[in-house]
Amino acid sequence: MERIYLDHAATTPVRPEVLEAMIPAYKNTFGNASSVYSWGREARKAIDDARAITADILGAEFNEIIFTGSGSEADNLAIKGAAWKQQHKGKHIITSAIEHHAVLDTVKWLEANGFDATYVPVDEDGLVSAAAVEEAIREDTILITIMHGNNEMGTIQPVEDIAVLAKDRGILFHTDAVQTVGSLPIHVKDMGVDMLSLAAHKFYGPKGVGALYVRKGVRLDPLIHGGAQERNRRAGTEDIPSIVGLTKALELADSERREVKPRLIAMRDRLIQGLEQIPDTKVNGHRDKRLPNNVNVCFRYIEGESLLLNLDMMGIAASSGSACTSGSLDPSHVLLAMGLSHEVAHGSLRLTLGRSSTEADVDYVLKHVPPIVKRLRDMSPLYQA
Ligand SMILES: *Cc1c(COP(=O)(O)O)cnc(C)c1O
Repeated sequence: MERIYLDHAATTPVRPEVLEAMIPAYKNTFGNASSVYSWGREARKAIDDARAITADILGAEFNEIIFTGSGSEADNLAIKGAAWKQQHKGKHIITSAIEHHAVLDTVKWLEANGFDATYVPVDEDGLVSAAAVEEAIREDTILITIMHGNNEMGTIQPVEDIAVLAKDRGILFHTDAVQTVGSLPIHVKDMGVDMLSLAAHKFYGPKGVGALYVRKGVRLDPLIHGGAQERNRRAGTEDIPSIVGLTKALELADSERREVKPRLIAMRDRLIQGLEQIPDTKVNGHRDKRLPNNVNVCFRYIEGESLLLNLDMMGIAASSGSACTSGSLDPSHVLLAMGLSHEVAHGSLRLTLGRSSTEADVDYVLKHVPPIVKRLRDMSPLYQA
């Protein structure tokens, strides 16, 4: 049977070119970058080269990039690191109701440890307004963390506007750009952010490696103590093949974006328009301020989980929201924050396209989803046609 992978927001496959670049790093560059002899120097050079390229693509400086073990770690380091370092100035943090759990749960943990937080709401398109962030600012606000592109319903937030607000008041601003790095052009100086998180496996790099951009002058308490790696900000012997793989994947994404992005947008919009034809269907997220690969809809009167199982039987890999919450039966916190009822939010479907997606995949989905929805509704006690 045909199999179609439409869950690129959860993770992406490693590109052959990326793997190709990683193999020599495994085979040859095995030295410890902290050692003085030639093996160590070769390892150091591999990391330095990767850091220089990564910084250049993001519009950052060499020393402003910290490699981490994941996007989650980058978020944790930014938020906990900044909060602990600045707690003498204040203990208030501003975030949004629709963040990834790597941000939300980190802020909640800080709340349990003496900090205070405001969760800015979103409108029905899932947009955070800069004005709402401004209203939430207090004398003791030390950090604002608002994501760039939402992983569930794809809405892209006005981070540039929020960055201006934060800067005017001397408040640090972090953005979780795990869904946008690789997909949208990212220039940290133009965006005006102080910190930005990314993860390689969301743009065809390896899992288990990410990075945090930290503007020069921003001080963080490290999460991991030990050696002096990453300029004392992240102890642990560096994972050179993963760092090389992240960099290679970023270079490829950056050089191919102009060609890939319009193709994804065209397929995305055709999927949305096709699925919208199904009665009692709601499209979630902003129509234009949207990730190029994200489709998110709710079909009333059905359960997301049974829909996913039926799609899987047809070879379609999709999600009902975040990969992190599937497995739990709670409806998405993102859709609830956008004002959807529990009942409607339960019937959500997220399809996220990728480089390998084709128009034929779109046809296949549009052919098979409507009859599945109809069949599930016919079985549903809530539905009276
Ligand atoms: C995937 C994702 C993360 C977590 O990244 P990991 O590398 O899986 O830890 C954080 N934020 C967003 C928006 C994501 O999509």
